[in-house]
Amino acid sequence: MTYQINETHDPNLKSWVESANDPNTDFPIQNLPFCSLLVPEPNQDWNYWIPAVAIGKEFLNLRKCVEIGLWDDGWDFAFGQEMGAGGKALTSLFAFDEIDSLRSDVSHILSEGFHLVDRARECLISQTEISSFGLPTAIGDYTDFYCSIFHATNVGSMFRPEAPLLPNYKYVPIGYHGRASSIVVSGTDVKRPHGQNRSDAEKPPVFIPAKNLDYEMELGFFVGKGNELGQPINIKDAEEHIFGMCLVNDWSARDIQAWEYQPLGPFLAKNFATTISPFVVTMEALAPFRTPAFERDPDDPQPLGYLSDENNKKFGGLDINLEAYIQTEKMRDEKIEPFLVSRSNTKDLYWTVGQMLTHHASNGCNLQTGDLIASGTVSGSEKSERGCLLERTWRGTEPIELPNGETRRFLEDGDEVIMKGFCEREGFRRIGFGECRGRVLPAD
Ligand code: MN
Repeated sequence: MTYQINETHDPNLKSWVESANDPNTDFPIQNLPFCSLLVPEPNQDWNYWIPAVAIGKEFLNLRKCVEIGLWDDGWDFAFGQEMGAGGKALTSLFAFDEIDSLRSDVSHILSEGFHLVDRARECLISQTEISSFGLPTAIGDYTDFYCSIFHATNVGSMFRPEAPLLPNYKYVPIGYHGRASSIVVSGTDVKRPHGQNRSDAEKPPVFIPAKNLDYEMELGFFVGKGNELGQPINIKDAEEHIFGMCLVNDWSARDIQAWEYQPLGPFLAKNFATTISPFVVTMEALAPFRTPAFERDPDDPQPLGYLSDENNKKFGGLDINLEAYIQTEKMRDEKIEPFLVSRSNTKDLYWTVGQMLTHHASNGCNLQTGDLIASGTVSGSEKSERGCLLERTWRGTEPIELPNGETRRFLEDGDEVIMKGFCEREGFRRIGFGECRGRVLPAD
């Protein structure tokens, strides 16, 4: 069961990889997130990919662990087969049902005092050896929810002040089907899209580069084991279908969105790019950071039966801090650090990840290994906790002041958005999600 604490979470556990014992690292031995590395093939102009686990500032090459026989067990099928395309890297691993024993083995290999430490050292790869990260898996389908009631209420009150929250919100985890092909890994530049803009209601729309480009700070999770078409997932089993989590920036063009969103919802305002962090933090690593599901107002309806479960109510929430920073081109030139614009926490989501997944499959829709599901913008009750610029600057009416005197209503060309995520709890080791970065390039 993913809520259980075991020896891999022991805060006193140390690694022989020194950088993993730094109290500020995102990747201590208690985390062990999976990622896909692209490494240059010597004397060739192409990369090969390596399934890896991040540890401190380094990476453990899982394929090499198998090759040199660090494991007696046959883990090789989980990450040895799909050579070639970076995007395929971890797909078999995601469906692997002994992921907890694999984690326990990785923890053992990386622990201080491991008896074959000299051989294990041969399996380390440093950051300087890699050319980039790959997508962790081939993402077949992507769904984006709308699970922050604070976000939904804020956005609703800008566009429909008389009825900010629609009557279905407290019954249905609202979502839409996104586009998987334009999901990119952290570090990929994002070109400002063109689209229809109708800012002047007296005139026909014009096709121009998006003016109100925004980020949305979200939590994403990957489907591990899927379900058969026609076979819903019981809320009690929901988390057994989640492999792990990452950060998501759902780039959004607000001017395109405002004109196109009725009657069918988001389309080209959203699907030009979605950036994810390269590290997949497993559900087991997150076990110490579970919280009760969002406490509903006494006047709110209880979730319908298929979305209700005692365990989900007690442990279905997640205490993950999310942060979004902006660094403009000018700030980079002036060597000014990225500026924190939004900070929120996933424990404020109205629906749990288990409820999102259960609802998604409740009509028999088949989820498949490697599908990405995102929470929707994570906002809290405070101004500083608003997870996108639309809310943060209240549709551009309250611009943000940056440390060098620049202001922002929405994103300008050259701006870089950097998202971070981390978990902290008394008695446990801090773990992090790494970064989800993307820089805005001018439109063609
Ligand atoms: Mn979104």
